[in-house]
Amino acid sequence: MSEKIKEANNIMHAEIIAIGDEITSGQLLDTNTQWLSQRFGELGIRVLYHTTVGDDLDANVVVFRQAVARADVVVSTGGLGPTADDLTREALAAATGRKLVLDRKVLEDICRMYRRRKRKMPKRNEQQAMFPVGSRVIPNPNGTAPGVAMDVPRKGAEPCRVFTLPGVPAEMKEMWYGTVAGAIRKAGGGQGVIRHRKIKCFGRGESQVEAMLPDIVRRGRKPLVGINASKHTIILRITAEGATEEQCHGAMEPTVATIRKCLGNLVFGEDDDELETVVVRLLRQQNKTLATAEGGTGGMVADWLGGVDGAEGYYLGGVIALGDEALERSLDVPADLIARHSAVSSQAAAAMAAGCRRRFGADFGLAVSRFPEYDPSATESNTESNTESNTEPKPVFFALATADGVKLKQVPFAGHPAMLKIYCAKHTLNLLRLTMLEQQ
Ligand code: ATP
Ligand code: MG
Repeated sequence: MSEKIKEANNIMHAEIIAIGDEITSGQLLDTNTQWLSQRFGELGIRVLYHTTVGDDLDANVVVFRQAVARADVVVSTGGLGPTADDLTREALAAATGRKLVLDRKVLEDICRMYRRRKRKMPKRNEQQAMFPVGSRVIPNPNGTAPGVAMDVPRKGAEPCRVFTLPGVPAEMKEMWYGTVAGAIRKAGGGQGVIRHRKIKCFGRGESQVEAMLPDIVRRGRKPLVGINASKHTIILRITAEGATEEQCHGAMEPTVATIRKCLGNLVFGEDDDELETVVVRLLRQQNKTLATAEGGTGGMVADWLGGVDGAEGYYLGGVIALGDEALERSLDVPADLIARHSAVSSQAAAAMAAGCRRRFGADFGLAVSRFPEYDPSATESNTESNTESNTEPKPVFFALATADGVKLKQVPFAGHPAMLKIYCAKHTLNLLRLTMLEQQ
């Protein structure tokens, strides 16, 4: 069967094996297979099989035997660790009829890593230096478990290339880029390259963004442009195929320029950029400091900003104040202001922004008010089909205090309840981003 498919396409086919009881028992979602499949796609290699198997030696042997027989490239993830349930090496050796032998150099590397961490190497870890005869080591710069690379001979065909990688996603990814992708290319896979670029926008809905663009989101276009929304961020994904990476990027450039021209400041970044990383970048560029005050978002903005590399010294800190008393005590929002306007008001947001700016001695004080009560029947007018019974949603309020005064913003508190915190946290950051862009 697989031979027939191969004849028809004459391209490499891959199988991914995910190993672990954690996965087969449903406790862990197998995101490694998803990631690896995407990488194979980038190499132009079609993945025909995803196989998942628990921590059972016999079952693993069967799975490896089967994969080697039906795929040209096999990549496994998991089960390379030092514990008794880590069986991948043993299974691969048994499936291919090879003995496991100790690799002294790998053992030394593992010992050295333990010495550096000032820990004694447990006897069990020796197992990680055992390799099937004739296999090669895939170095693991981030962990103790190196991977195994092996060419398994097949009658009348190129050998099947097998690579075993650890389950820890960060280690697996680095080893893919460091060793596996290059080895697959060398073996004749991935003649061409496929590259993606993501342009990220915030502030409008998916269809509104699409309407602002010329006719570039259509099937068969080269480069291809797709549009999708993820947690209120609209992502334009551009895909190009070419002989080299440079060729792909060159082909994408005019499309990127068109998108940026049409969407202007709606575009906040590319690829791995998030609103918070962009805000920190702007703060650093303009040498400005920021403090935050949050109601309904409950610290989400602070958490995001605090997680950005290089934020220290620019993001000074934040206050979460949900109760009226907390607003007064930690942000100097007067009780009578709340009595007059409520905590869900532009006045409260403005006082929160000014309060955190003053208390932290920051250039910018950024605030989001408490949330109004969620009204499931409320929908934003002109985004959904309005029926008579729909009520107007109540707003959430945002404020940005600067040396020049306070800037206000409000958005309707409507949409999927699970997304509202993220939605409002993004609007908070976007208010600052747009203001800082104006000042550039
Ligand atoms: P270690 O040396 O850390 O034990 P390992 O190769 O033995 O590495 P596993 O024990 O199988 O890897 O998995 C280690 C951890 O990596 C798991 O607890 C899980 O958090 C993560 N992980 C494993 N497999 C997957 C997967 N398929 N998708 C996502 N995460 C995974
Ligand atoms: Mg393990």
